[in-house]
Amino acid sequence: MIRILPDVLVNQIAAGEVVERPAAVVKELVENSLDAGARSIEIEVEQGGSALIRIRDDGRGISRDELPLALTRHATSKIAELDDLERVATLGFRGEALPSILSVSRLKLVSRSAEAAHAWEIGGAGDVEGAARPAAHPQGTSIEVRDLFFNTPARRKFLKSEATEFRQIQQAVSRLALSRFDVGWALRHNKRRVYEFVPAAGEEGRLARLREICGEEFLAQSVAMDESRLGMRLHGWVGLPSFARTQADLQYLYVNGRLVRDRLMGFALRRAFADVMHSTHYPAYVLYLEIDPAAVDVNVHPQKTEVRFRDATRVHDLLFAAVHQLLRRLRPEPEHHHQV
Ligand code: ADP
Ligand code: MG
Repeated sequence: MIRILPDVLVNQIAAGEVVERPAAVVKELVENSLDAGARSIEIEVEQGGSALIRIRDDGRGISRDELPLALTRHATSKIAELDDLERVATLGFRGEALPSILSVSRLKLVSRSAEAAHAWEIGGAGDVEGAARPAAHPQGTSIEVRDLFFNTPARRKFLKSEATEFRQIQQAVSRLALSRFDVGWALRHNKRRVYEFVPAAGEEGRLARLREICGEEFLAQSVAMDESRLGMRLHGWVGLPSFARTQADLQYLYVNGRLVRDRLMGFALRRAFADVMHSTHYPAYVLYLEIDPAAVDVNVHPQKTEVRFRDATRVHDLLFAAVHQLLRRLRPEPEHHHQV
């Protein structure tokens, strides 16, 4: 018998792709905060995220009548037509994260938009289907996710230790914090302060945050770069060959502010290091590629960490050439024998 699945089940299935672990929940919620124009984002986590994930932002907020919509599948304020998809400037656009998270947790959403006299809340003790209740909250949004996967025991069992899950969360927050130096961040785990970043104005603030996230050693053994060519800009920091890693654990690569894991880009960077680094080692970098949004497709995968370039060869060549030349310039000059 063929049946149409109920919404909750559809959302739970989608949750398998969008939010496979607590760190993915944090990433999705924080991306929403950034899309809402937040300048300050506080993240509170308990027990590696399986007990509680709470994100509080000072963004645009959600109006009372749109609260239920925010939790509805395929409901988004970010795109309206196919054309928009061709040049998405927001981190989200699928309208899948909140309904997916809602379907596998106990969720509470509190928000206050600029025009509202006070905040409104849904979920929590009450039902998300129920009416919104008045609440106290400054302009912005707080989302509380409790007991993640409580109703999907197979998924819950798949969670690793508290320490491992938190490490993933911290990694996710690190990636996001390095994508927006102008935003202030706080991360707490079991009430312990892990990160506290003020919005970084200027180079000094950026370096302080980079030091906190990537470590003193990376800072000491890396060089800044900023190259524009072929209508693209590549900037950031590249670890010196002497900072070779045995794991690919310090590789941050952003395309238009979105962290990506792109095979081709990773390959280009590895190749740039090939003459100066042993093939069993991995280069370290924090790099930002700015490119015409129309030249890149982000709608490839639900987690949106894969991208497709209209002209992949050009991107590959820029990355390879810029980093290769940088490394060459840094190498001690070979001895030349000049004729007098
Ligand atoms: P998407 O981000 O793909 O649009 P989501 O399910 O993540 O889908 O969010 C649905 C909608 O809820 C968003 O389009 C946005 O309008 C609203 N929303 C979610 N989180 C926030 C937030 N922190 N601040 C303001 N609006 C939000
Ligand atoms: Mg989203």
